[in-house]
Amino acid sequence: MSIATIDPSTGRVLKTFDEMTDQQVEDVLARAADGFDRLRTTTFADRARWMSTAADLLEVDRDDVARMMTTEMGKTYASAKAEVTKCAMASRYYAAHAERFLADEPADAAAIGAVQAYSRYHPMGPVLAVMPWNFPLWQVLRFAAPALMAGNVGLLKHASNVPQTALYLDELFRRAGFPAGAFQALMIESSAVERVLADPRVRAATLTGSEGAGRSVAAIAGQHIKKTVLELGGSDPFVVMPSADVQRAAEVATVARCQNNGQSCIAAKRFIVHDEVFDAFADALVARMSALRMGDPMAEETDIGPLATERGRAEVEEQVQDAARQGARVLCGGQRPDRDGWWYPPTVVTDLTPAMRMYAEEVFGPVAGLYRVSSYDEAIEVANGTDYGLGSNAWTRDPAEQERFATDLDAGMVFINGMTTSYPELPFGGVGNSGYGRELSAQGIREFCNLKAVWVGEGGATGPGAGAHSE
Ligand code: NAP
Repeated sequence: MSIATIDPSTGRVLKTFDEMTDQQVEDVLARAADGFDRLRTTTFADRARWMSTAADLLEVDRDDVARMMTTEMGKTYASAKAEVTKCAMASRYYAAHAERFLADEPADAAAIGAVQAYSRYHPMGPVLAVMPWNFPLWQVLRFAAPALMAGNVGLLKHASNVPQTALYLDELFRRAGFPAGAFQALMIESSAVERVLADPRVRAATLTGSEGAGRSVAAIAGQHIKKTVLELGGSDPFVVMPSADVQRAAEVATVARCQNNGQSCIAAKRFIVHDEVFDAFADALVARMSALRMGDPMAEETDIGPLATERGRAEVEEQVQDAARQGARVLCGGQRPDRDGWWYPPTVVTDLTPAMRMYAEEVFGPVAGLYRVSSYDEAIEVANGTDYGLGSNAWTRDPAEQERFATDLDAGMVFINGMTTSYPELPFGGVGNSGYGRELSAQGIREFCNLKAVWVGEGGATGPGAGAHSE
């Protein structure tokens, strides 16, 4: 029963799925290898046509897919619809730009004794994507759209609590016209990932998920000398300086913390506020967090639904209780409601110390940690004081300070006077324990390509092979 749709707003098991047998997994891998042989010989124009059709299908299917996601993991229906729309947009983005991103890159041929020299991008083959439940369509799509446009094929091991979304994706690309085997879902548990990744037909892996899962998949890939991209957790700082528009910062902070019911890797999690504006910001944040309406995720008026899993809710609750036990003040929330399902209210906690779990750990729920600082340097010290480095946010109207934050924040992404968001136009990823590699942008499509150096001589005696040094 571990692969199952369980409604987080009631805790009721709605549908269970059997894990694939060894033979079924073998069939998927064989189809992936065949699919790669077919897909690699297609043109960018073919793939762009199919990818655009996938975007059209997503738009047609939007409401049904959104309802399915809401049922499987509890995000609000409104945000689920927006997620589907974003997937369609990113599919069109890669359909339009893949060929340009992967065009041959000329080198200075004369400088290296060649008549022609360039780098060329080739697809690598089947790529295993181990994906999380929090943005069950978007996390997969932002891997799949560039991967398929490059000519790779995708194998999806989705989180066990979003099997229906996995099966929808399994069909989507085939319906759009991609060859059989170009994209398939593997209905397996995480313990079966090792066997798939070890298979010689699988050339690389990408994982979006927790630090522990990242370490495990990277270790297996390392054993088999396969490339990985890791998009892991984060505890993003949100710094508010005296020149900021404090009311606007508090408004955006509330969304940045509570989007997706507080379960986003790039949610702002630590609010680091300058002494001069601390009280004003804290009051505004508490007022806004307390005003959020928690309830049926399908209802239009709902701001925040349940957490996706019972385990996730228990973890958040324990992190807050640990802080409170050690002297932190809970300014709002902090008590789970007495009802079925995995609910946890918007919560603000302050007076946090390094001894508390919340100080260093990611809190994957609608809980804001509030920190008081008295200078720019102290703000940077607290902001950079975790092992993570995914997104970061700073609020200041001082142009010199904006420049300094862009340099000094140790993260993969810096958003000034805004909240961290993913755009196809910008690279997405982190440093430190938040992972490595990048998704989206031109960089994202190049991650799973073999960048081949090509040197062409005149056919005479000079050039590589005839020179004194080669390596
Ligand atoms: P998770 O438990 O790590 O699960 C993610 C995926 O990894 C699931 O498919 C899971 O399968 C699989 N998995 C878990 N342990 C594994 C292992 N030892 N070997 C192979 N696969 C394994 O994470 P989650 O709870 O679903 O998602 C929350 C985490 O993801 C948070 O830390 C969040 O910050 C991070 N995240 C990061 C990004 C980003 O872009 N950086 C985006 C979204 C989420 P099962 O479901 O079968 O266990």
